[in-house]
Amino acid sequence: MKNKDVLENNTSCDKYRPPKEYTHIQEFIDNLPYILMIVIGGTINVIGFKLSVFGLISAGVYIIYGIVGALWIILFVCPYCHFFNTRACPCGYGQIAAKFREKNSENKFAEKFKIHIPVIVPLWIIPVIEGIIFLTIDFDRLLFIIMVAFIVNSFIILPLLARIYGCGHCPQKSDCPWMVKEKETSQVAILVKN
Ligand code: SF4
Repeated sequence: MKNKDVLENNTSCDKYRPPKEYTHIQEFIDNLPYILMIVIGGTINVIGFKLSVFGLISAGVYIIYGIVGALWIILFVCPYCHFFNTRACPCGYGQIAAKFREKNSENKFAEKFKIHIPVIVPLWIIPVIEGIIFLTIDFDRLLFIIMVAFIVNSFIILPLLARIYGCGHCPQKSDCPWMVKEKETSQVAILVKN
């Protein structure tokens, strides 16, 4: 599918889509919170294990996991996305995916998303668990600040940027388990409020 075709499609949510493709700088901005999460998560290991060799190794393993996780999504989710092989993908994964995979059925997007997203979820959880253990055993002010930075970046900035910057205008929004879950949560919140 050509970029022009994607940009001219009506979105399922009837929201305005940017009339231009994402630039490399915009793609970098979209990737920044994920990169920061991996770097800060690795730093938690280094500081928590007191700059030991084991700390460096565990940080390396976490960083490699972060890279493999991104590749996993590129290989196993992006081929089913409407933005595959276009510059309309906010983070640029869709174009990388096209170098390795063929376009596949968009109808399977939700199914593939549900199957493969859990592969990267531990990236958010592992540093938090490690940090809590490190701080409980031996409180360190620097590690505490790094932990706060990890939580703010990974649990607030990253999902917020994804929803506002990319997912909020995605034509597959209604099929995406992430966005549907958000919608259901909002509806429950409104019901509870009333
Ligand atoms: S929008 Fe998401 S699923 Fe679609 S190609 Fe880009 S990274 Fe992959």
